[in-house]
Amino acid sequence: MTPTPERHHVVIIGAGFGGLGAGIKLAAKGIDDFVLLDRGDEVGGTWRENTYPGVEADIPAVHYSYGHLPNAKWSSAFAPGSELFAYARDIADRFELRPKIRFGTEVVSAAYDEATREWTVTAEDGTQFVSRFVISCHGALSIPSRPDIPGLDDFEGKMMATQRWDHSYSVAGKRVAVIGTGASALQVIPTIAPETAHLTVYQRTPIWVMPKVNFAVPGALQKVFETLPLSQKIVRNIVSSTTAAAETVAVTHNKRLPFVTKGVAQLATAFLKSQVKDPALREKLTPTYGFGCKRPSMSNTYFSTFERDNVTLETTGIERITSKGIRTVDGNEVELDTIILATGFKIFGLSYRIAGVDGVDLESQWDEQRLASYEGVAVPGFPNFFLAPGPYGVIGFSWFDTIDICVSHAVDMIAQADADGVTRIEADSAATAKFVKKMRKRVENTVFMSPSCNNSNTYYLNKHGDAPYLRPETIVEAKFAMRSAAKGYVRA
Ligand code: NAP
Repeated sequence: MTPTPERHHVVIIGAGFGGLGAGIKLAAKGIDDFVLLDRGDEVGGTWRENTYPGVEADIPAVHYSYGHLPNAKWSSAFAPGSELFAYARDIADRFELRPKIRFGTEVVSAAYDEATREWTVTAEDGTQFVSRFVISCHGALSIPSRPDIPGLDDFEGKMMATQRWDHSYSVAGKRVAVIGTGASALQVIPTIAPETAHLTVYQRTPIWVMPKVNFAVPGALQKVFETLPLSQKIVRNIVSSTTAAAETVAVTHNKRLPFVTKGVAQLATAFLKSQVKDPALREKLTPTYGFGCKRPSMSNTYFSTFERDNVTLETTGIERITSKGIRTVDGNEVELDTIILATGFKIFGLSYRIAGVDGVDLESQWDEQRLASYEGVAVPGFPNFFLAPGPYGVIGFSWFDTIDICVSHAVDMIAQADADGVTRIEADSAATAKFVKKMRKRVENTVFMSPSCNNSNTYYLNKHGDAPYLRPETIVEAKFAMRSAAKGYVRA
């Protein structure tokens, strides 16, 4: 017998920073009948799951955190992963959200019923939750991407992904391979290299790397932040404005200002030169695509690691993984004890099935008709359902500003519907088309559309040739647009 579904006014999917933020905002509006569903056993999302050696943010901590929830205790300018995880746990405790969280609940589907104007959210174990509204905070980096390399299951040694690090296993003294050279690999490679007997790094596309100006936050400054939270807000605003300006000139208006990314590429090339003496090695590490086409990162130790005697950079393509190691297309096979997959995520992949009016499947609709949304939050045909964020929803460099803007809008729309006695709220098709048209027009000016991105294999561009993740606006522009976004919904 199917157990009776748990009923709530709002179901929040995910208890990462987005879900926690949504819970706080709902409670602040007096909406207490909500539940957060998370497949993990703790809050924190990507920062709970990514515990690989060297994991830390590459956005300054004052900016990579909620502006309305300042944390005076960051130990360094860029927070280590463990502190971000602790910050999430602290938020859950401070706002007493834990009783509302159903851990170990892996959502497999959410289906809308027009007759009742309600959603049924189903977990893997069959548990069901029925609600008027759903806020999906499933995260952009939640589904590890399994690389399409033949023989992945043939390897007889230890294989692990950066997102599922096995801390009971030691790489010390082992022959290790890292596949991938993205932002995660950049952190794990220098951290584990000294311990390994030998480390072979398989690079398909080099990454642009800038120096990381990191420093310990002095105790006196932590004290100032604690006693005068306004001081941290001022620092946040300065960092936030600087990154917004950088993003605007380098990414959003690249077509008009291409010299900016060219100048940054020259600086990054000079940095590489200062780090690596061997010209042949330097050439292998130099990207052949423009700066900004793929996500760049920062590290003071990544490049120099390749000059270690026990590290090899392999740029010949991988043919397959064998029982003993990795064979490249030139027939060379390297015997290994450990393979680390630093091959990233299915960016913006939906981790569960979302069926709207008439059972229309959201992922198929996006696949066939291109990614689209209203204000990066709602989709016509999916009433009472909000994404934090959806396509064209990520604003600037701060994930926290993005999720804050999205969940604030979702909660405002729910509160307004409740106040008006409305039980169905759906993004208007014409308003959505207008928003998407505006975003696609703006995307034409971004760095992603520059010819320098042609051979970059960037995940910012999808199979339709769209760059649908970033909302090419500043936070100020997006917040201003959100003030009048309520009129783009049909209510009943
Ligand atoms: P990623 O940036 O997508 O990098 C994946 C790497 O794996 C790329 O080098 C890719 O090569 C390579 N790869 C994928 N499939 C492959 C295959 N079949 N054969 C060979 N190589 C393959 O993933 P990530 O490093 O995990 O980072 C993901 C995102 O997480 C970042 O973009 C960033 O947004 C975020 N991140 C943030 C931080 C932070 O500090 N805030 C830290 C880590 C990660 P190609 O480039 O050729 O595809």
